[in-house]
Amino acid sequence: MSGCNQSSLVEGLMKNFQEVQVGLTKQEALEESNRCLYCYDAPCINACPTSIDIPSFIKKIASGNVKGSAKTIMQANPVGASCSRVCPTEELCEGACVLNHSTKPIMIGNLQRYATDWAIQNEQVLFEPGSENGKSVAIIGGGPAGLSAARELRLLGYQVTIFEAEEKAGGLNTYGIVSFRLPQAVSYWEVQQVEQLGVKIQYNTRIGQDLSVEDVMNNFDFILLAIGMSKVPNIGIAGEELAGVYDAIDFVKETKVKPITDRFMGKKVMVIGAGNTAIDAATCSVRLGAENVKILYRRTKEEMTAYDFEYEFAKQDGVEFRWLTAPVRIVGDEQGNVTGIECIKMKLDSAGDDGRRRPVPIQDSKFIMEADAVIKAIGQTRYIELIEQFELLHDGGVIKINQETYQTSKAKVFACGDAIFGKGQGEAMVVSAAQQGKDSAYAIHKLATSTELEMA
Ligand SMILES: Cc1cc2nc3c(=O)[nH]c(=O)nc-3n(C[C@H](O)[C@H](O)[C@H](O)COP(=O)(O)OP(=O)(O)OC[C@H]3O[C@@H](n4cnc5c(N)ncnc54)[C@H](O)[C@@H]3O)c2cc1C
Ligand code: SF4
Repeated sequence: MSGCNQSSLVEGLMKNFQEVQVGLTKQEALEESNRCLYCYDAPCINACPTSIDIPSFIKKIASGNVKGSAKTIMQANPVGASCSRVCPTEELCEGACVLNHSTKPIMIGNLQRYATDWAIQNEQVLFEPGSENGKSVAIIGGGPAGLSAARELRLLGYQVTIFEAEEKAGGLNTYGIVSFRLPQAVSYWEVQQVEQLGVKIQYNTRIGQDLSVEDVMNNFDFILLAIGMSKVPNIGIAGEELAGVYDAIDFVKETKVKPITDRFMGKKVMVIGAGNTAIDAATCSVRLGAENVKILYRRTKEEMTAYDFEYEFAKQDGVEFRWLTAPVRIVGDEQGNVTGIECIKMKLDSAGDDGRRRPVPIQDSKFIMEADAVIKAIGQTRYIELIEQFELLHDGGVIKINQETYQTSKAKVFACGDAIFGKGQGEAMVVSAAQQGKDSAYAIHKLATSTELEMA
């Protein structure tokens, strides 16, 4: 291929990574906001994990007070601009809209996006820090949970330092969720809102490596662990070391931080797993020009953890799903490159301890499919080493907390977000991480003020 053809090809692929959904126009936003019934005791507010006053922000759009609308949203949810794009709204706010019974629900997510996009475009600063109270908090991790906690603590007058391992903050909003659903600029704006309040973000600082746990423990009044989860675990099958086998989190991250290339052009890609990450990896592969993308899942559609809207999105992108199919071996050639994947057919047996029906292999049902790349998306591992350096109780890397106070087994250490998700605890969603961040901030404040009272 000539250099010129190649660059126009790559340019074409880059366009695939631009945001898919266009925002509402002013006229559309006005019309949609005027459809809202502004219910008293609105069920949508209860269905939003961050309890945004939805009727109020919609009414402000209708009356032309878009800044006020953005403030109402961001007050309740410090990552409300990202949430407007990634929340499973049909399961949350929009699912609870009373108009579901008659016509169609109000497009709450899209209206939220309209107001927050306006604030982004008009460079609005929405909040002021509270007066200093002389207490300090170290937050480890600058994802949705850490940023939300930082914002609330700063409004309460704490000196807040976020330690962030990466070059930028925003966590999975910045590096994990694909850019055609959530552009990085949106996440950066939310980080900027927090920094503008005087929260210090120490970038490229991995606690436990670049700075010791001891230093953090000795230098701050309180510590909040908002470290999320780590890499995709190994599947434990032969061939995982071959060239062309990827960790889905790293794979998606590359499409967000590195130039787009044509390396997937015309390729056959197998994605293993059927959660958020698998869908994002599969749709990214399609956008990188892959000829065929299949998601392999050992259970059925009913058990998959991806949201319905993600499933529909992937299907529209042409992603194929192979249910009840488990990989047993990744096949490679003599040069060490992936050439296929050997799978086995599964069936569902009785439910295990977790209440989910267990997949079991069907004898003599192995078969091989051709593949040029295999992307592993079977969940995420935990930062067990760091958790143990803090000497915190955990269950397989899920930090144990007091469910009401977010306090860990050490009195001055709190934890929230994906770091406490799992083993039947919490939910891995941006909006729940945001709420937990807020709740941990209030719990820290409650402990700080009660200690003060005791000492008075
Ligand atoms: C591919 C993918 C797609 C998803 N899609 C959706 C979606 O559509 N909708 C939705 O609601 N949710 C989605 N999720 C889930 C959502 O992104 C998470 O639940 C949410 O980001 C959790 O926030 P958090 O702040 O707890 O963790 P994270 O976002 O993971 O942030 C943790 C931060 O801590 C930092 N960190 C870790 N260790 C250290 C250390 N030792 N020192 C300093 N910093 C450290 C990390 O660099 C990171 O910035 C998706 C997740 C993935 C992986
Ligand atoms: S934050 Fe999410 S759940 Fe809450 S109102 Fe906005 S889109 Fe709905």
